Amino acid sequence: MVGVSEHPPTAPSPVPTPSDVLTAAVETARAAAVEVAGAAEEVGEHLGTAREAVPDQGVLGEVLTHTFAAALPGYTGWHWAVTLAHVPGDEHVTVDEVVLLPGDSALLAPAWVPWHERIRPGDLSVGDVLPVTEDDPRLVPAYLADDDAAADPAGMVVAQEIGIGRERVLSLEGRRGALARFRGGEYGPGSAMARHAPGTCGDCAFLMPLAGSVRLELGVCANEYAPADGHVVTTDHGCGAHSEANLVAVDTTEIQLTPLYNTDTYDQL
Ligand code: SF4
Repeated sequence: MVGVSEHPPTAPSPVPTPSDVLTAAVETARAAAVEVAGAAEEVGEHLGTAREAVPDQGVLGEVLTHTFAAALPGYTGWHWAVTLAHVPGDEHVTVDEVVLLPGDSALLAPAWVPWHERIRPGDLSVGDVLPVTEDDPRLVPAYLADDDAAADPAGMVVAQEIGIGRERVLSLEGRRGALARFRGGEYGPGSAMARHAPGTCGDCAFLMPLAGSVRLELGVCANEYAPADGHVVTTDHGCGAHSEANLVAVDTTEIQLTPLYNTDTYDQL
């Protein structure tokens, strides 16, 4: 007689794939995060998993990252990322790395800015040293053909003869930048003083022109009564102390054609 089993035959359980093993290893990942954090309460809820790309998965196995919320003071929006690997033929998973990463809402420090890009005009104070960089676009070697000395051959010869020379000079970009700043500043053509001036610096006797390629556009005001005295001015700036600003003489002598009688006092007769 054939016996009848009380339980219907069950299908054999599927062999777990490496992916299943990695996905199920939440507690292994959590333990690794806790070990790095130093306290269990600093590792929060499990947020999910992400598969990492592996070039030769058949040989190197699979790699998966578990993510946990970070419960660290001051790290709002950060999360723990624990990367696990499953090597073919190994029944255990391996912890690759544990890192604390910022999420989209994390508060981050601003990006690093080199010191020479952080300095702003006006930051330099007494005793500070501000070295220029080798690739400063405002400067070029003095032997380049487009510098001021080259534009002024006579001056260059004199400088060479008496041993005065500069290793670098303003580049075209440096000169253009300076000119733009000066034109847009207090002693440029757009200032209120210039707009109400009787003439421009370009035809004022108090202008001392600058040498070099900017001689037609810039000079120094040498009028002690002018607000720009001692400053570089553009030739289209101007002020009320212009050398040709003459007052129109008005003769204030009043010619009285009819007799006047003084009614306040009188003479005793
Ligand atoms: S006195 Fe006035 S107009 Fe003359 S150079 Fe100086 S700023 Fe220009």
